[in-house]
Amino acid sequence: MHIAEALLCSKQLEEVSDSSKLDTELLLCHVLDKPSSYLMTWPEKPLLVSQQQQFLTLMARRSIGEPIAYILGTQAFWTLDLEVSPDTLIPRADTEVLVETALSLFANVPFLDRPFRVADLGTGTGAIALALASERPTWEVWGCDRIDAAVALAQRNQKRLGLAQVSFVQGNWLEPFSGLFDMIVSNPPYIDSRDEHLDQGDVRFEPRSALIADDEGLSDIQHIISAATDYLVTDGWLLFEHGYQQGAAVRQLFNDCGYQQVNTCQDYAGNDRVTLGCWKVG
Ligand code: GLN
Repeated sequence: MHIAEALLCSKQLEEVSDSSKLDTELLLCHVLDKPSSYLMTWPEKPLLVSQQQQFLTLMARRSIGEPIAYILGTQAFWTLDLEVSPDTLIPRADTEVLVETALSLFANVPFLDRPFRVADLGTGTGAIALALASERPTWEVWGCDRIDAAVALAQRNQKRLGLAQVSFVQGNWLEPFSGLFDMIVSNPPYIDSRDEHLDQGDVRFEPRSALIADDEGLSDIQHIISAATDYLVTDGWLLFEHGYQQGAAVRQLFNDCGYQQVNTCQDYAGNDRVTLGCWKVG
């Protein structure tokens, strides 16, 4: 099999992927360890037998719907290339709205005689914590996750990116932390267990524990809103990613707990995606 023939195998992916050609190119580049320009330059180049076998194995995995990010083991997020594994959600463009909103809140960090402290709850790959740290090198950023394998993965991402001001710890939401934070961010599970979206596409292969929450998807958000009042400085902010139909419900939860300046931001498709509130003590 040569490169041009291998690329024709994209037909096998048409039923599972809207980007069958691109997926095939990515898998072939991965096997050959070459950039995509190589495929166009050397269409007649034969694959080694071992490369052909590996390519066909990866194509078979993709053809049953396994996400390309899990097969390749990496996903781009913000300006970073992150290692991913089936222990964590695959970072998504929607979550970049949370990063943008968090950065814009503190475009000019007030002068403090202590580090500006941020926590990312349920960090998974570490995507949000690492993106924030990459933009604000003076911030002290913490991430936590209940799943040990996710903490280990986030730590590997942190070391590879050389973002020394980020630390990852194991634990449930705020439990592992002491002291106060200037900002707490989270992309918690927020999907209702009956949601049909769970049976479609990449999401079928992602950990259920990172996706599903009780009370129509709001139970973890509700828990964090209430617990965070003990962990925020006055004028500290709490921000969540949530489902596109949950904006009003999340604003209500913030308001019920006494947060101020509660508002919702939209994702690139114009849907409610991030809600935030400011905590004022006393
Ligand atoms: N946005 C993801 C999805 O809809 C879910 C992420 C999450 O539950 N935190 O597939």
